[in-house]
Amino acid sequence: MVRNHRDEAIVALIDRDVERATDTYTRAAYGTLAGLENEGENRDLLGADARWAGHALSYLLLSAACYRVAGAPDRGAARCREGIALAGDLRDAVLTDPFDRACCVEFVADFGVVGGLEGGSTRGGVDATASGTEEGNDDRTGDANGDDYDRAIAAYEAVGNGSADPMSWATSPMAEAARRGSQQIARNTPHAFAWDDLHGSNPDSIAYLTHRPRCKRSQLPPAIEHATNEGYVHPPRGTTEHNNAAWRCPNCGHSEVNRIAGEVICLDCSVRLERA
Ligand SMILES: [Zn+2]
Repeated sequence: MVRNHRDEAIVALIDRDVERATDTYTRAAYGTLAGLENEGENRDLLGADARWAGHALSYLLLSAACYRVAGAPDRGAARCREGIALAGDLRDAVLTDPFDRACCVEFVADFGVVGGLEGGSTRGGVDATASGTEEGNDDRTGDANGDDYDRAIAAYEAVGNGSADPMSWATSPMAEAARRGSQQIARNTPHAFAWDDLHGSNPDSIAYLTHRPRCKRSQLPPAIEHATNEGYVHPPRGTTEHNNAAWRCPNCGHSEVNRIAGEVICLDCSVRLERA
């Protein structure tokens, strides 16, 4: 079975080998950006298909989380600086959809958190186009990541003043990519967040999108801390089955199935399931 680097990274995580997942997720990011694999396969992510480039950013974010969890925070920070630079380029020179461009600001904030960077956006040169009419004008002095998420909120609000549809954008490739990486880092931690946690309850309002940075600001920093303390990043959620009696987790005894990257693992603790 030929696996792409993303699946190889997931298998490394299932093997409890976070260190092996670090470079593998990095290769998944580059391979995706190069149009060779994953969501980037046969697409021009630095051109007409740039909407899919968020997945390359997402794999960089996951690689950074794995480096940090594996005890190499400097390499994680390096990947985050790469991600910030790429997000800035995509926003300024490649992407055309205004929500996609605003999403790059959300990515910058995520990279700031996962990389432990202070004032990530000032390093990447990505700034919101909004003139600073931010809802909930929090004074977050001393919290550089909060500032980056405020920029993301302002960026979405600046777009939302038009007639665009927040709900349909939330299921588009950039939005999905910006959701997945962070959601995986937080998965199976006390700081996990689901779709509704990320977006709130009003899909007709721009609040549906500005809720994303707010949710991440509260969940992602403790999630990466938790993962680092645990020494583990869970693989993503794939196709799931609840209470499938044909399978049993040797660790927790549950029969909660998560099928991902050709593996059958426990939805709760990501251990390989055994035939019951
Ligand atoms: Zn289990």
